[in-house]
Formats: sequence, structure tokens, C-alpha cells
Amino acid sequence: MSELSCPVCGSPLRLKHRLKFNVYQCANCRLLNSDAKFEHSFQSDLEPDARDSALKVLRVMNFKTIIAKLKAIKDKKLEGLEIGSGNGWWLEECKEQGIKCIGIEPERTYENYHQEKNLDIVYGFYPDVSPKKQGGYDFIIFNDVFEHIPDINSLVESLKTDLADDGILIINIPMSTGFFYRVSTLLHRFGFNNSLTRMWQFNFHSPHMNYFNESNMKMLLEKHSCTAVDVFKLKSLDLQSTKDRMLADRSMSKLKASVMTSVLKVMKPIIDNSEPDIKAFFFKKRQ
Ligand SMILES: [Zn+2]
Repeated sequence: MSELSCPVCGSPLRLKHRLKFNVYQCANCRLLNSDAKFEHSFQSDLEPDARDSALKVLRVMNFKTIIAKLKAIKDKKLEGLEIGSGNGWWLEECKEQGIKCIGIEPERTYENYHQEKNLDIVYGFYPDVSPKKQGGYDFIIFNDVFEHIPDINSLVESLKTDLADDGILIINIPMSTGFFYRVSTLLHRFGFNNSLTRMWQFNFHSPHMNYFNESNMKMLLEKHSCTAVDVFKLKSLDLQSTKDRMLADRSMSKLKASVMTSVLKVMKPIIDNSEPDIKAFFFKKRQ
């Protein structure tokens, strides 16, 4: 077998963990990369309804943070594109705040909800179905989606053609340096694999392909002539939603979810003071 190389910096990838799929790590930039496959049957262990009620408060809070930062930089009527809209909450929040945004979503799981909320969504994969905007979009955003995409280099090149010259690429993404990821790695070392498997979403139909840290995320975009203009922390831990998220995972018992929530409650001060689990990056094309 030929040697695997890092999609960010080209250095060799070394096997790091054997889970349902293998996880490799770049010896140079520390990118974590998996050989997971996208499951086209759309069967997963997650119940969509439970996921809805549980996460909404937290997600919308983070969206408000992102929109406030975006409005502070770009003081005009904005037109954006969201790649991987899922349930459509970002588009809903944009609507509420007077921002025009079109979504692209491969799955039709939430189609009824999209229609009910009158959201502007195109079904299919980016960039195949991407609606073009004259002069490019003011922003293109990924909310918990970028880490699922296999070919990140050709993706970034497509994004550059769809983004206005002064447009902002927003990547809202979980970090490999975050508290939860590190605890999961530690548990895996002691033989408990569930948590790390969950972090990579290997039991869901759309698993993570990469786990970034702040520096290799910037390195990837730098390589494509994009510069980070802002990086900030987003909220990841809301105890009720963490419990609901665990309950939404069919493979976890209610008792276990309750115990885990209690443990998290005790550890909250430590979590709040450690590296953030989720960050948002704003990138601009270099002129
Ligand atoms: Zn690398």
C-alpha cells in the first residue's frame, strides 16, 4: 500500500487509532484524518426528532454570536450561502435577522420543516447544484459540516470561485484540541472506545473525515491563499442538551446518559477553562 499523505501539508499520515474506521495523524501538522465512508443508505443511529429539540437552543445561541461578528465586519445587506443546512436553523436565524441566505443540503430528512419555515434550500451536493451569484456571495458558511467533507482541497478551490472578492468564508467546526476530544482519546487509551467513536460519528451515516486544530485549519486555507481575519470560541456545553444528545443516541441507555450528565456537571468548571471544543473561523481571500 502506498503511503498516505496529509491533505493539509502533504506530510506522511501515521495510524493513530483503530476504531470502526482507522484514524491517522499527520506527523507534521497534527491533522487527524479518517478512512471513513459516507453511508448513502441514510440509515443512522440518531433519531432526528430527539436531535431537534435538544440542540436548538445551543446552536441558535452560537449562530447569533456568528451573525453579530459578521454584521460588525460587513455593514451592508448581506447575501450568503450555507453548505449543509441540515434542519435549517441557520437559515431560520438569518431570516429573523434580515440576512438573505440560500442553503444547500444533500438530505431530504427535514424537507417538510424547510417548507413549513419557507426556507430557501437547494437539494444536492455542493458544488454540483450550487446556485451562482453575480459577483459572488458576501459569505459562505459551514456549520458542523466542513469536517464531513472528503476532498477539502478541491472544496476550498470551489469556494473561492463562489465567494465575492471581499467575501467571508465562515467555518464553524469542532476542534481536536477541545476538552471532549481529549477526554475521548484518554478513554480510548484505557479501552473505552464508544466516546471516541461518537466524536468521529462513525456510527452515523455521515462520519467525520477530518478533525482540525486551529493551526492546521489556518494552514489549509493559507495554502489556498486565504487568511484568517477572526477566530473565536463557540459554546459547546449545555448540560440539558448534552443529556438529550446522549439520549438521542440509541446505543446509549438512559441510566448511562444520566450518570454521564452528572459527571459533566462536576467537571464543568474545568471544561470552561480548557481549550474550546468548537471554534468559528472567518477567512478572506488574499487580493
Ligand atoms: Zn499535515
